[in-house]
Amino acid sequence: AARLLWRRGEDEVRASYLPLIMLQLLAALQQAVRLAVMAAAASDPSNPTYGQYVRTSGALATLLYVSLATMCCALIVTHQQTLALRRASLTDVLTGWLNRRALHDIATREFRRCRRTGSAMFFITFDIDHFKPINDRYGHGVGDTAIRHVTGLAARVLRGYDALFRIGGEEFAVLVAGENPGAVCGIAERLREAVAAAALAVDGQEVTMTVSVGVAALDGQDHKWEDILRRADEALYHAKQHGRNRVSVHGRDLAGRGQVVRLQAVVA
Ligand code: GH3
Ligand code: MG
Ligand code: MG
Repeated sequence: AARLLWRRGEDEVRASYLPLIMLQLLAALQQAVRLAVMAAAASDPSNPTYGQYVRTSGALATLLYVSLATMCCALIVTHQQTLALRRASLTDVLTGWLNRRALHDIATREFRRCRRTGSAMFFITFDIDHFKPINDRYGHGVGDTAIRHVTGLAARVLRGYDALFRIGGEEFAVLVAGENPGAVCGIAERLREAVAAAALAVDGQEVTMTVSVGVAALDGQDHKWEDILRRADEALYHAKQHGRNRVSVHGRDLAGRGQVVRLQAVVA
């Protein structure tokens, strides 16, 4: 039972299983000791009170075990409910990805960490191009499917540790930490390509979608993570202004081309 409980728990939940696991082990130990003592008492008939003592202490231990185990189970249920609530409050209902509240928590923590350790931090933002006509033509339900389609494609391009957030109706942000600028631009470009290459099937028709992408990095003058996100949004706006379905990078030499630029279209 202890092993099963340990294997069942995710890292966060495991802590609440620990008291129950310890209790299971103690109960098993208690039973073993009790058996050993009873066996010894049985082979020593000259001591008639021994068996009585063992039975009374055993009954008390069992009572204690049952009440503590009940408390542990209640603790586990409460802890799991708290975690489920927390998870729900950080998750976007439509896509299952992280929402703005999660962005605030995670970006604040990452920003502090990156400033302290001198690590790089980037935001990639993207917005579906000409999304309104999809809604108008096929309806809101298909629009929702299209949003999920795009986030599904984005998830395949991202690595497990890149966090994807839905920050608006059909606007998303990816937080990338500890990477080099070239790799981040590579991710942004692969994301754009993945969406453009995989059309969505609607009533037997193929609906091709594209995204415009903006990239920005933490720089020495940033006081808060919102500064990076704002620049990534400016870059996204730049991509929209320059024809959509492209990646724009905000900042110094992010694309690694050896030149200082403010806004740069990576894909012509
Ligand atoms: P642009 O290329 O400039 O981005 O053009 P656009 O038509 O995509 O314009 P915009 O980004 O402003 O479009 C946002 C639209 O997304 C407006 C709104 O009706 C739609 N939208 C926002 N949230 C949702 C949602 O949850 N589901 C659906 N189906 N549509 C949504
Ligand atoms: Mg749009
Ligand atoms: Mg939008």
